[in-house]
Amino acid sequence: MNHLERARLFALEQLNLLDTPPSESFDRLTRLASQLFGLPISAVSLTDADRQWFKSRVGVDHWEIPREKAPCASVSASSEVVIIPDMLASSCYRESHLANSGIRFYAGAPLTTREGHTLGAMCVLGTEPREITEQERATLVDLAAMAMAQIELQHAFGRVDPLTGMANRGQFEEDVQDLALDAPDTRRAAFFIEVVEPSQLSALHRTMGPAFLDELAQVSARCLQQALGKESRLYYLGGCQFVHLVAAASEDALIEHALRLREDLMALESAREVPVLVQPVVGIAAFHLGATTPSDVLRSAHAATLDARQIGRGAGVFSKELEERFQRRNMLLSDIDRALESDDELYLVFQPRVAVASGVCQGAEALLRWRHPVLGEVSPAEFIPLIENTPMARSLTDWVMRHAIHQAALWHRQGRDLRISINVSATNLEEADFAQRVLEALRQARLPAAAIELEVTESALIGKGRAAASQLEALIAAGILIAIDDFGTGYSSLSYLHEIPANIVKIDRRFITHLGEHARTRTLVGSMIGMAHELGYSVVAEGVEDEAALACLGQLGCNEVQGYLLAKPLLPGVFEAWLAQQA
Ligand code: C2E
Ligand code: CA
Ligand code: CA
Repeated sequence: MNHLERARLFALEQLNLLDTPPSESFDRLTRLASQLFGLPISAVSLTDADRQWFKSRVGVDHWEIPREKAPCASVSASSEVVIIPDMLASSCYRESHLANSGIRFYAGAPLTTREGHTLGAMCVLGTEPREITEQERATLVDLAAMAMAQIELQHAFGRVDPLTGMANRGQFEEDVQDLALDAPDTRRAAFFIEVVEPSQLSALHRTMGPAFLDELAQVSARCLQQALGKESRLYYLGGCQFVHLVAAASEDALIEHALRLREDLMALESAREVPVLVQPVVGIAAFHLGATTPSDVLRSAHAATLDARQIGRGAGVFSKELEERFQRRNMLLSDIDRALESDDELYLVFQPRVAVASGVCQGAEALLRWRHPVLGEVSPAEFIPLIENTPMARSLTDWVMRHAIHQAALWHRQGRDLRISINVSATNLEEADFAQRVLEALRQARLPAAAIELEVTESALIGKGRAAASQLEALIAAGILIAIDDFGTGYSSLSYLHEIPANIVKIDRRFITHLGEHARTRTLVGSMIGMAHELGYSVVAEGVEDEAALACLGQLGCNEVQGYLLAKPLLPGVFEAWLAQQA
């Protein structure tokens, strides 16, 4: 092979065109050519080492023919227009592959790059001998120029990542769509290769600078391309994240393949090509071509990397279960707004709180319930953590506050002496007008401050700083009691109990439920109660499920109890009936 041909082949390879899926931008041109010439066959044909490969074709079924005796190959060799009016009359082509398959007429114009490499031909073919006019010849040359413009445009514009030289996400999306047209209903798997964990990425950015990350991306790109073979297409998404498509295979086989790629990346460090320890992870998403959008493919494969990292694996497959969890999360997040507007999805239940000494009900904790139109009853333990760190936390607490205070006011007017406790999220305390809003709600309902109590978790109180503390102080000053919820689960609570502005400690149910059985827990709870009392707090135990725990709490001097033994959280009407029964 002479050096010109070698350079030509290299130029062709660099364009990443060979063996790519068909694409509409080229198909448009071949359809046009066949129509303009009134001929059944047209192709954008690229001359590879030993074959003519069709980037686009009309009127033929196969993708390639042997290079030998192919007229397109002589277009490439000569960089000239080649016209063969009748193949059977040509000593050169009479015995060619095309002539044998019934082709008589051929006209091809060179596809020449700016650098002067002829990649192949834009050609039209017919099954009858034919002549070509000067005008038709010019048209064919124009079409070739258009195909070439498309090739260069595609290569240069928005499809290639300048840093790594890899195809980018835009190209990935186009390729998945093109593949779906070409092979609908077949399965593929996407590998989402994340070389560096995103938080490590920003740490590296800070310590080593952006040029270091560029280099890391380049080294990783080379490593992966080498591992995958140079004919495989690798896409670079940025942030040291790559994507690669593979044929569908068993889950085990995919994982094995992914782990091998990961090993290759990790070897970079020991080869001293990368001066830091990288922790690559590969997320895998299998999908049906045509049934999943490219962006969903990326989303799923990326979710699989997150999941793999979370459980400490090097590779993971996106599962239906993961998808369902994800969809459910999304659904809850996007539906909470509507639920807050409509009045028939959210509601409150009330769980009684009883004084240990007298057995009299002192009040109740308002607990939120969501009857989702599709998912049914959803536990607050599931949806509250989702929205707690979003702006929705504010509207949610406002909803609870409004409804709980409304109910408390109804009971208050009926002459019942109850204190309703309301759960508040950590983020609420960071709202500068929080205390003010609570007091305004009480005023509107004409309810005394002593008729409600707010429950805040210990972790919400610690580390939130002055702003949170001053909200609580304002509430306490107005006569509202503050309870520290889930006490004992957060920090080494006892030590800074005295710093927290609160009146009540609610010992978490995990200490209480098995109190009757464990002597050590009894000692622990005993000292929590003793300490809290010394600091002036009243103590509530939650999660009381049996008589043994209740008796034990009585001995330890606990003030109030709450739990299934006494009552589950109840609808207001049921709560009233329960109260009547107690009396
Ligand atoms: P929490 O504040 O610790 O509420 C007590 C939870 O324990 C409730 O679960 C209650 O039903 C449950 N429970 C009560 N007695 C027993 C018992 O004897 N045994 C056992 N195993 N469990 C018992 P729920 O209603 O599912 O609420 C879960 C969490 O959701 C609450 O935990 C609270 O953190 C949060 N939450 C509920 N309503 C609201 C609300 O209106 N606002 C906010 N911010 N959070 C809420
Ligand atoms: Ca609570
Ligand atoms: Ca609690």
